[in-house]
Amino acid sequence: MLTQIKGTDAAAAGRPRRKTFGVRVGHVMVGGGAPIVVQSMTNTDTADVATTFKQTVELAEAGSEIVRWTVNVPEAAAAVPEIKKRMLDAGCDAPIIGDFHYNGHVLLTKYPECAKALDKYRINPGNVGAGQRRDEQFSTICKIARDNGKPVRIGVNGGSLNQELVMHKMQENTDKNLGKESEEIINDCMVLSALQSTELALECGLRHDQIIISCKTSRPRDLITVYRDLSAKTEQPLHLGLTEAGMGMKGQIWSAASLGVLLYEGIGDTIRISLTPKPGGDRREEVYAACELLQALGLRSFSPSVTACPGCGRTTSTTFQELAERIQNYIRDSMPVWKTQYDGVETMTLAVMGCIVNGPGESKAANIGISLPGTGEAPRCPIYIDGKKDVTLEGTYDELAAAFQSLVDNYIEKKYPRKPQEVRV
Ligand code: SF4
Repeated sequence: MLTQIKGTDAAAAGRPRRKTFGVRVGHVMVGGGAPIVVQSMTNTDTADVATTFKQTVELAEAGSEIVRWTVNVPEAAAAVPEIKKRMLDAGCDAPIIGDFHYNGHVLLTKYPECAKALDKYRINPGNVGAGQRRDEQFSTICKIARDNGKPVRIGVNGGSLNQELVMHKMQENTDKNLGKESEEIINDCMVLSALQSTELALECGLRHDQIIISCKTSRPRDLITVYRDLSAKTEQPLHLGLTEAGMGMKGQIWSAASLGVLLYEGIGDTIRISLTPKPGGDRREEVYAACELLQALGLRSFSPSVTACPGCGRTTSTTFQELAERIQNYIRDSMPVWKTQYDGVETMTLAVMGCIVNGPGESKAANIGISLPGTGEAPRCPIYIDGKKDVTLEGTYDELAAAFQSLVDNYIEKKYPRKPQEVRV
């Protein structure tokens, strides 16, 4: 069954989305006017069934609608069907992409159950072999996809670009005195590699509605240039991502700066934010970042949003920061359950404000808002619900937090209709 993902018509949130073929990945539609899909990738050893299963479910519960696994060695390929089975047994139906480099043609041939279990194959045209063998090995993967009725992503990456193509274009630039900078040539080669590979995939029997393209680079300005060019030259759906974006704030901002421009221009059908986690860090950060980006642009709603002021000299304690963080974490922890129970809960808005300067105004604009007392203000917290003053809270931080949380719970229960629950047998 095809799942209908909810989303805003992008015309309301920027320029109209470009028209593309719709590609079905498992039960999720990518392109063809469908809302932009969030993807992520595990960083576990795929041969380790238990840890890959666990992280995949965590990523899916956090909001990743498609999850990618590295399939790099026979042990990983052999593990794929078992992980997929455990996921389905656990009620997790996120489509799974196999990420192949160098030996995808061998693994998919030797492990047909892996080929069947995966919902899409990612092929990097720069890492599929050299010379004559590149086309042969690329074709082998495409034919396996065709025979299994699976889509592929032709995933070009600036760090592993087809070097024969680059050398040829560099030489052409010199011979014809074209005067192009090397960065421009590389950007051209990325688009060319993607388009040539798409032609080859079509020749192998894949249909237009089985091919997604990406051309990732780690430089935001180049990413924008490449995708603008690509989007003008193909109607295949596009997967967006700034590759190797980096850690923490740097990775998030560089990704948002580049993807935000493209998404606002209507370019992009599915996204991944490629963050480097801290050692032992939470892999779900990349999913939260992708969801926040789409929600910020008004393209999707994943989770209630919390408006919080930055604080200033009028805030004398950290109470409002703690409350904002606590309610944000409460929402994040509760959403996997809420989204299965309440229709539309993801559109709820909250405000947690530090004083009465902007507090009541923001509180009135939210579904539920609280203003904490600033310096010199009476120790009271007015609460607004759907624009109207509802109650004034007083008490310790813990009492305020518990009371606010309970107001949120009651609001959800009253406002959002219960979804029919599936009975699992
Ligand atoms: S709402 Fe109050 S505490 Fe928050 S930034 Fe504005 S003036 Fe400062």
